[in-house]
Amino acid sequence: MITSNPPERTPLLLSVLRTARITPNMIRVTLTGPAVSGLPADCAGGHCKLLIPMPGQTRAEFLAQMQNGPRPTTRTYTVRSIRCDTNEIDIDFVAHDNPGPASSWAELATDLDFCGFAGPGRPKLTRFDADWYLIAADMSALPLASAALEIMPKDARGVAVFEIMSPEDRQEIIAPRGIVQHWIVNPNPHKASTVQEDLITRLDWPNGRVKTLIAGETSAVRSLRFLVRAQRAVDRKDAYASGYWHIGMTEDGHQQVKRAQTDADEAALATY
Ligand SMILES: Cc1cc2nc3c(=O)[nH]c(=O)nc-3n(C[C@H](O)[C@H](O)[C@H](O)COP(=O)(O)OP(=O)(O)OC[C@H]3O[C@@H](n4cnc5c(N)ncnc54)[C@H](O)[C@@H]3O)c2cc1C
Repeated sequence: MITSNPPERTPLLLSVLRTARITPNMIRVTLTGPAVSGLPADCAGGHCKLLIPMPGQTRAEFLAQMQNGPRPTTRTYTVRSIRCDTNEIDIDFVAHDNPGPASSWAELATDLDFCGFAGPGRPKLTRFDADWYLIAADMSALPLASAALEIMPKDARGVAVFEIMSPEDRQEIIAPRGIVQHWIVNPNPHKASTVQEDLITRLDWPNGRVKTLIAGETSAVRSLRFLVRAQRAVDRKDAYASGYWHIGMTEDGHQQVKRAQTDADEAALATY
């Protein structure tokens, strides 16, 4: 029998509805298009691929490029919220000072702009069956963490550690009262940071089943993965820990090393 892979779906072409600087270093871009109503209503916290047009490219040119190639510049983001009834998706972009194609696009976006959207993936934490949760996020993973905290059961317990670039980057997050929030300011995200690890190392570790939701700069995430997996014996399936960006690397370079690094880390952890 001859089998073939299904054809890849062309990403959706979405328009910018509005943008807002929600904190000094975070830009919210609200995207819209009729197809949004057909996306899963519970995908907040799931990742998506954004395809970024070249400066000056028309909608028709960009659509043709998405359909026929070459694939436009693509970056990974998180669905911060989705409102299927009004066809709106919010994506929160860190406005970092070493901007690449995606962050510069978001900085300049107006309601005349558009981009491609592929996905979304499933949210990373959907089964709230742990006794305690550890959430650790830098600004790139605030959308992931906020979306998860919003849907946690009201009686959930744990700790959330957020590393932000300025005190004003703190956001109001709807979270269970039993999740203790720590906000740490680190104005220089381009230098490897241990501030989250230092705090988490000092935590009284609970008895019972622990689940983690850890994401952000890769070296910080790697240290935290070792901490929770090797020192605190969190089961691999309960330990979400994912590098979202890499100091000094574009996403294309980062994605290449990420999988190899994660596999090597897990092989090393298997010997503990
Ligand atoms: C599953 C997943 C979900 C993600 N969700 C989000 C999200 O919701 N919001 C978000 O802002 N990011 C998110 N990211 C991270 C985002 O994909 C990267 O930050 C990406 O590099 C941004 O693309 P760019 O074009 O701006 O920069 P690139 O061209 O990729 O990189 C240019 C330069 O910017 C630096 N850089 C990249 N990101 C940052 C940063 N956050 N702070 C400081 N310097 C940086 C790089 O080291 C590089 O030197 C996510 C990543 C993954 C894997």
